[in-house]
Amino acid sequence: AKESGKARYALFDVEMHNAAMKRLKIENDLRHALERNEIKVFYQPIIDLPTGRLVAFEALARWIHADLGFIPPDEFIPITEETGMIHSIGQFILHHSLGTLKFWQTQYPQAKDISISVNFSSKQIEHHDLLSEIEMALNENQLPAKALKVEITEGLLIENAELAQQLLKSLAEQDIQVLLDDFGTGYSSLSYLHKFTLHTIKIDRSFIYQMDHSEEHHTIVKTIAYMCKHLKKGVIAEGVESEKHTKMLKELGIQHAQGYFYSRPVSGEDAKELIVKYNS
Ligand code: C2E
Ligand code: CA
Ligand code: CA
Ligand code: CA
Repeated sequence: AKESGKARYALFDVEMHNAAMKRLKIENDLRHALERNEIKVFYQPIIDLPTGRLVAFEALARWIHADLGFIPPDEFIPITEETGMIHSIGQFILHHSLGTLKFWQTQYPQAKDISISVNFSSKQIEHHDLLSEIEMALNENQLPAKALKVEITEGLLIENAELAQQLLKSLAEQDIQVLLDDFGTGYSSLSYLHKFTLHTIKIDRSFIYQMDHSEEHHTIVKTIAYMCKHLKKGVIAEGVESEKHTKMLKELGIQHAQGYFYSRPVSGEDAKELIVKYNS
């Protein structure tokens, strides 16, 4: 028993060592990912439920590593936050996605009213002058404020309420809409909804996912929709995966939907086809 215990220990050590090495490799390689063109922006459509039109895309970061292959954002974004690399990567995603939107708009009349939703993590906001970065990126591409939506999570509102309040206020003054992501998870508090200048709530996909077989989840979605309607806030349902979901969301009067039912996140090239498909 002693022997096998030791053997397990050794194995555990090896696994720990491998995990640590992989993490180190990822962290190192991340430093070159941008210059090696390995960071890509993928786009997932947001659909207006009453008309079925594509009104926006959410920009989602992708890392295609030379030998490790696809590394999901949940795995590498946290590392970029710890190391501060989130600033250069975030800036790349902001500029690249707005440049792509401008390109679509010059190519397709169907893309005229489309906007881009960009995720900003708390770390990114805390150490940078986000407002002027955003203004620069819009100007550079000759795009109006309504072309960009800023997605934040409640983390920022909790950890740095004062800064958040200031930033959201100045974004609102510039007519840049702010979306509260993953609503209903974490420590979501209803007080955010009136305390901060938030334009739209994104209902987390965990609620949508279970809506069609759990009366409770359906009630939660219905209640969020009701509340947002009366607070005059927009609502986007995330993680819409079926026809049944869309039917239920329409019945609840929810305006916008996003999820695999419409499309997975796709490359900029493939996104053009979605614009034509939904908006012709
Ligand atoms: P998020 O902002 O909540 O993004 C939505 C995630 O849900 C995306 O995962 C998307 O692919 C996935 N999703 C969309 N529709 C469905 C569906 O119908 N079913 C299911 N099961 N999933 C769906 P992804 O692209 O892996 O991104 C994960 C997270 O990584 C994002 O969550 C966001 O928090 C973070 N992230 C991604 N790109 C960026 C970025 O450019 N900047 C920052 N700061 N964070 C990012
Ligand atoms: Ca998001
Ligand atoms: Ca989300
Ligand atoms: Ca998230």
